[in-house]
Amino acid sequence: MEHDLIIRGGTVVDGSGGPRRAADLAVGGGRIAAVGDLGGAAAREEIDAAGLVVAPGFIDAHTHDDQAVFADPAMTPKVSQGVTTVIAGNCGLSLAPRSYPGVGAPPSALLGTPAEYRFPTVAGYRAALEESPAALNLALLVGHSTLRIDAMDNDIDRPATAAEIAAMADKLDESLAAGAIGLSTGLAYPVAKAAPTDEVVALAQRLPAHGGIYTTHMRDEGAAVLDSIAETAEIGRRSGARVVISHHKCAGEANWGRSVETLAAIEAARETLELDFDVYPYTASSTVLLPDWAPQARRILVTWSDPHPEMAGRELAAIAADWGCDRDAAIRRLMPAGAIYFTIDEGDLRRILAHRRAMVGSDGIPGDRHPHPRLWGTFPRVLGRYVREAELLTLEEAVFRMTGLTAQVFGLAGRGVLAPGNHADLTLFDPATVLDEADFDHPKRPARGIHSVWVAGQAVWRDSTATGARPGRFLARGEGRG
Ligand SMILES: [Zn+2]
Repeated sequence: MEHDLIIRGGTVVDGSGGPRRAADLAVGGGRIAAVGDLGGAAAREEIDAAGLVVAPGFIDAHTHDDQAVFADPAMTPKVSQGVTTVIAGNCGLSLAPRSYPGVGAPPSALLGTPAEYRFPTVAGYRAALEESPAALNLALLVGHSTLRIDAMDNDIDRPATAAEIAAMADKLDESLAAGAIGLSTGLAYPVAKAAPTDEVVALAQRLPAHGGIYTTHMRDEGAAVLDSIAETAEIGRRSGARVVISHHKCAGEANWGRSVETLAAIEAARETLELDFDVYPYTASSTVLLPDWAPQARRILVTWSDPHPEMAGRELAAIAADWGCDRDAAIRRLMPAGAIYFTIDEGDLRRILAHRRAMVGSDGIPGDRHPHPRLWGTFPRVLGRYVREAELLTLEEAVFRMTGLTAQVFGLAGRGVLAPGNHADLTLFDPATVLDEADFDHPKRPARGIHSVWVAGQAVWRDSTATGARPGRFLARGEGRG
């Protein structure tokens, strides 16, 4: 029997967390056909992987790629890192189901210009992506803020009424039935700030019947981060849903070092609750530019500005100096705008990243003119800087938290582990050279050391170039083996 592809002589790190081993890997019909000594087997294409690691394609646990898969289906920022699946619809914001015609309150701009693509239903979004696939797979969360803007006609500075909650819950049910994998919230943002815990619980209670997950950009990631973890755990307990805390951090210098407390609180909550979290490997955050968040940051970089596009990539302090005004006045002149906030301690980042339940998620913002480098660098940065250079975690452990753990937590069947019968989503990289090249000054540089990337057995990245193949699928929860 002839396989489609055999990757020979590589070091297999299979995504389970188990030890690496020397093995060949064969692919046929988009699936992994065999892993082991395949000396007697033949294939239409063979690749010599001596010195390279064969791993499952990375699963980006936290993205805002809902629109990027249509606007830029090659998805170069992600496939160049070895990513083969993205979890979209995070932080309360999803491109579907959405009917509201306007832009909506911040952070709606994180997805890009919403007027270009509008999907009143998840079924419609899914059909559009199946008709026009991207290079990689996507699983979609439904955004609470997206539901709010629609149900409340963007009148969002108040709790939703019982009738509005019922309308949101029905939309959520319909979306989950159409293949969405869960609900996300962004309770720190103006669009959802006024939502009380009960409003979120009422929605999250719809999740268990569909096996859906609850993910949250918590209400506060700074001084009140412990209250936010308590609220998150309460939502998980009262709803019965599995929970993921998004981009866990302790923001603001006054809170540096507090990851000791937050991780202890997470461990305590885990005794009665399925609760995990994702993290990006940088000490700066990025989102919309809002005056409320400026005091937390020592330094702020502008990523885009509608009235002043020429300021993208510049320091807020320098802009304010040029304009002869203070930072607050400069922010107001730049808005609507996006920013990078330097607010996180390296020690906290390492402590969080080293935790056994920390999934890797980029939180990259694809539409930004001068994006946070995490969009292009997250996964190679973990493998290069934190595994090889800092030895903060083993290669096996890091790959597990980019693949097997993430597939398990988000319910992506048939992915995340290299085993016969699973989908042939694969990454081949050089563990001696893999490294992020994107930085805050040059945020759009592809990483080095990512040799080849396959989705469903088709190469999407090879010789430092996107191949143009678009084998990606919409991943409905639990349907991965279909
Ligand atoms: Zn967020």
